[in-house]
Amino acid sequence: MEKYKNVVVNQVESIKEDLFKLKENLYHNPETKFEEFKAAKWLTELLEKEGFKVERGIGGLDTAFRATFPNFSSKSPTVALLAEYDALPKLGHACAHNIIGSSAVGAALALKQIMPDLEGNLQVIGTPGEEGGGGKVILVKAGIFDSVDIVMMVHPWNMTALAATSLARVKVGIEFRGKSAHSFAHQEQGINALAATIQTFNGVNALREHLKPHHAMVHGVIIHGGEFAVTVPDYSASVFFIMTPDIQYCREVFKKVKSCAEGAAIMTGAEVSFHSYGELKELIPNQALAEAFGRNLKELGVEIDKPGLFEGILCATDAGNVSHAVPTIQPYICLDKNLVWHTPEVARASVSKEGKEVLLNSAKALAMTAVDLYVNKELFEKVKKEFISRKL
Ligand SMILES: [Zn+2]
Repeated sequence: MEKYKNVVVNQVESIKEDLFKLKENLYHNPETKFEEFKAAKWLTELLEKEGFKVERGIGGLDTAFRATFPNFSSKSPTVALLAEYDALPKLGHACAHNIIGSSAVGAALALKQIMPDLEGNLQVIGTPGEEGGGGKVILVKAGIFDSVDIVMMVHPWNMTALAATSLARVKVGIEFRGKSAHSFAHQEQGINALAATIQTFNGVNALREHLKPHHAMVHGVIIHGGEFAVTVPDYSASVFFIMTPDIQYCREVFKKVKSCAEGAAIMTGAEVSFHSYGELKELIPNQALAEAFGRNLKELGVEIDKPGLFEGILCATDAGNVSHAVPTIQPYICLDKNLVWHTPEVARASVSKEGKEVLLNSAKALAMTAVDLYVNKELFEKVKKEFISRKL
């Protein structure tokens, strides 16, 4: 096993300039959700050139792809490395997905060298639109993960945490339709849609007091509130994010938020409608796999801040939905402990000296952990067992 791990580590080193170039190209050409055409092209070209079979536009998403290394083995496990490559509007790669995409490709190209000697299959799945698009939710629904046994990806962060969870999230749009009228001459004829939205916010504020302590966050913004004060607003719209540690409670809170809006509709006479943007499930990290990843990371000399299950990263990610379908890990690797996420500083750090280090360590540790899974059947069984027991 050590022999294989040495090969993949050396292999990542030997292709590092290509990986740095890929990461920097992504940085200089940030593309937002489902518009990642250049990114998908660059990643797939590299994989194809190295003999991977590439399917583009999978799951109905133009910028998604699956690259399979064809070693003609029907044996398990099939390990999938997830590549993200979408950027944030205006902020560029402020979530450092340029490192995520490049590290998945780096690990895959390194593993390719030894795959003919191993039992199992390798995939790189390009998952677009993590930021606000829920690309992986769509890919899970389309059955893209049905042929996969294990999923791994890494995420840069301001700490190193092996088995971090994420929050569940429901995003909902709420619209009210009322009746316009002159606000002063014919106010008795009007139905004020903005008043309904304001009452919804008041209801949600009252609701907060009765949510499980430390278990729910409900934040909303008004995206349309009317045009002129001289006309009764006949249309208003808001968007709410509900975030909780698990999807069941998220759905419960959503029902209560919905009741607030329905109550506001009764109070004002406006008509209410809801637009669901789908749900992100909480990420359940596979701890046996996270431990294996941690051992490899340690061997590379990376210090680990949070070795066990860690619930302190309060984000939601579409990788959560993948973790409900397949044993999954998404360890965080520290880029710079002073960074505040989703800021221009993160984007700049992704192309710094530290960004290069995180990319190389991520690619190496991913490849080493894949070797563990291919060679150590006991680990594979343990990972599967944990997944089944956690789902029950
Ligand atoms: Zn991210």
